Amino acid sequence: MTAKIHSLGGYIHEYQKSIANPEAFWAEVAEDFYWHKRCDKVLEWDFEGPSIKWFSGGKLNITENIFERNLYTIGNQPALIWEPNNPDEQSRTLTYSELYLEVNRFANSLKNLGVLKGDRVAIYMPMIPELTIAMLACARIGAIHSVVFAGFSAASLADRIIDAEAKIVLTADGGFRGEKITPLKNIVDEALQSCPGVETVIVYERTKSNIKMVEGRDIWWHKAIEGQSDECVAEEMDAEDNLFILYTSGSTGKPKGIVHTTAGYMVYSAYTFHNVFQYNAGDIYFCTADIGWITGHSYIVYGPLLNGAQTLMFEGIPTWPDAGRFWDIVDKYKVNQFYTAPTAIRSLLAMGMEHITNKDLSSLKVLGTVGEPINEEAWHWYHDHIGRNRCPIVDTWWQTETGGVMISPLPGIIPTKPSFATLPLPGIQPVIVNEVGKELTGNSVKGNLCMKFPWPGMARTIWGDHDRFRQTYFSTFRNMYFTGDGAQRDEDGYYRILGRVDDVINVSGHRLGTAEIENAINAHPLVNESAVVGYPHSIKGQGIYAFVVCGELSTGGEEGIRKSIKMAVTSMIGPFARPDLIQLVPGLPKTRSGKIMRRILRKVAEGDATNLGDITTLLDEDVVVKIIDGALVEV
Ligand code: ATP
Ligand code: MG
Repeated sequence: MTAKIHSLGGYIHEYQKSIANPEAFWAEVAEDFYWHKRCDKVLEWDFEGPSIKWFSGGKLNITENIFERNLYTIGNQPALIWEPNNPDEQSRTLTYSELYLEVNRFANSLKNLGVLKGDRVAIYMPMIPELTIAMLACARIGAIHSVVFAGFSAASLADRIIDAEAKIVLTADGGFRGEKITPLKNIVDEALQSCPGVETVIVYERTKSNIKMVEGRDIWWHKAIEGQSDECVAEEMDAEDNLFILYTSGSTGKPKGIVHTTAGYMVYSAYTFHNVFQYNAGDIYFCTADIGWITGHSYIVYGPLLNGAQTLMFEGIPTWPDAGRFWDIVDKYKVNQFYTAPTAIRSLLAMGMEHITNKDLSSLKVLGTVGEPINEEAWHWYHDHIGRNRCPIVDTWWQTETGGVMISPLPGIIPTKPSFATLPLPGIQPVIVNEVGKELTGNSVKGNLCMKFPWPGMARTIWGDHDRFRQTYFSTFRNMYFTGDGAQRDEDGYYRILGRVDDVINVSGHRLGTAEIENAINAHPLVNESAVVGYPHSIKGQGIYAFVVCGELSTGGEEGIRKSIKMAVTSMIGPFARPDLIQLVPGLPKTRSGKIMRRILRKVAEGDATNLGDITTLLDEDVVVKIIDGALVEV
């Protein structure tokens, strides 16, 4: 277990320590881990290159820090608890010892099939324990995993396989999601038509779907592990050896293959998990993310397992068999920490209270959210109806690139404020800068969110394109990591994320974050969800275009709703933030991870829907067609 903060005084103390001497601070955190050889140098960095190295010269394997380090004490405790898609199917629990043996067995199978240290292994699997086993098996032998969310199309999968130059793909015959089966193996077959480099496909039998096995290329998982030993000596890794590649959600453009390395990621994911969720031995922790996203990597797999925690993994979707499924799971396993995304909260909020009222949610201690700004209405609903006014909400701001949580309350320690991610974790040095990169010091400021000092979990490069890495994150502002997000630091020094900087709207000289305006619109009782973008406006520079999803229409009809939304925004923010155009839409375009893709809406608002850019990560193209059909223009 890594060091844990217990009080506000403790937080302030640790934070100050981490800023005064970051190297000493992280060296101390790193002492809790198991190293073959300790590092020679804690940190070497240069944001110009950029080149970032943590724990240089250190030798270790991350899986030994999950298993060997803990087996004597917690070997017989559950590590992974798995809830299947169908609530009537048997759930599965793997103890640390059992998971260890499975990981070793599969690691030996990979070796047997010729996978070597440094090879890339593409993983396109449903949310089943074997997905976790596969990732850890790669880490055991030093292969680099590249998990691709199992909702992506064949073309998107192929892009990612080609980009990473993977020679092997791990998949399943199919994946259960609600009433549907995703034909994973068929999708892999289609993708591989354009990936001649792939020599081997391992297929786990999950849905017993009718699939074709390609002779000489495809092998069943159960055949691959047959006769393999459950002992596998961990590959000795350098601290800076690559651990995994993970492509970003693609909210803003072509996904980037973000690269994380071994030691820094290990230390950071473990440290942040322990503190942000205030995990105590014996707690049951449930993160609803898919492992195909960074949240699943850091906070279903690595962070919890490095802390000896019991991590719950759910195969299905929140709305099947009904919209109470998350709460059934919380009730069934007596979940203590629950971590989800604003998009899920907003959609469950819209489904009504009947799915919640008779569920026992009294085990919950901490609620978390990540992925997008959470609007106040969703925050209060989560707080009142799920947390029943007892559980602090940790609004965790971070990115695929940051490896772990950066800005977040510590539950029960840092007082929360709806829609604020509050304060940076120890070791994190956020700054807000203006357009020309000047740091805005003091409180009550707004601007571009940057980091002026490295932290162990930060990405080291974009796979195969270091220059894109430099340009995207280190060239906008000199000597700083630029997050791409806008933020405000309020009068208390609390951070609030205002949305992506690309989405900031400049109306008559007022810079407005999309999150602020959406927050006000979503507070309207008939609004389920909204997205706001700017469009060229002859007088104001930019006009405000709001796309709004309503549950039902009031007696005033559409016009009435538009009017009352404008009034709501005027009273919450001011008349300058009032939307010029309000289009009522059946849904919003989202990434497969559930985030609103405002860049598509911006094109619609600009009247330029012919060129939508990269839409491979878009969840539902139908919604976009309907939005384009109903687009408004100013008269
Ligand atoms: P791409 O970089 O490809 O456009 P993406 O940024 O959506 O995709 P992720 O790394 O999954 O990919 O998401 C990180 C982003 O999500 C952050 O930069 C921020 O915009 C948003 N985000 C995450 N957590 C929060 C939060 N708690 N509050 C507000 N925004 C958040
Ligand atoms: Mg991003």
